[in-house]
Amino acid sequence: MTEIRTQYIEPVMFICEAKDGPVRTGHRMRAREFAALTGARSFRCEACGEIHTWTTETAWLGINTRVAA
Ligand SMILES: [Zn+2]
Repeated sequence: MTEIRTQYIEPVMFICEAKDGPVRTGHRMRAREFAALTGARSFRCEACGEIHTWTTETAWLGINTRVAA
């Protein structure tokens, strides 16, 4: 049996083009939940006020994990 490590619930981050930087989407989840997501989700951006749509390919988990290209 493979031991399942405890995973932290982390914020989903997304690059806002208006801000030209990462913003919180307001979604929070564990890495395995994020990896299992399909399709797109939307949120109202705290930086520019617009609705952005993200997928697991354009968003990432954790504020300091990485910066999307
Ligand atoms: Zn924005």
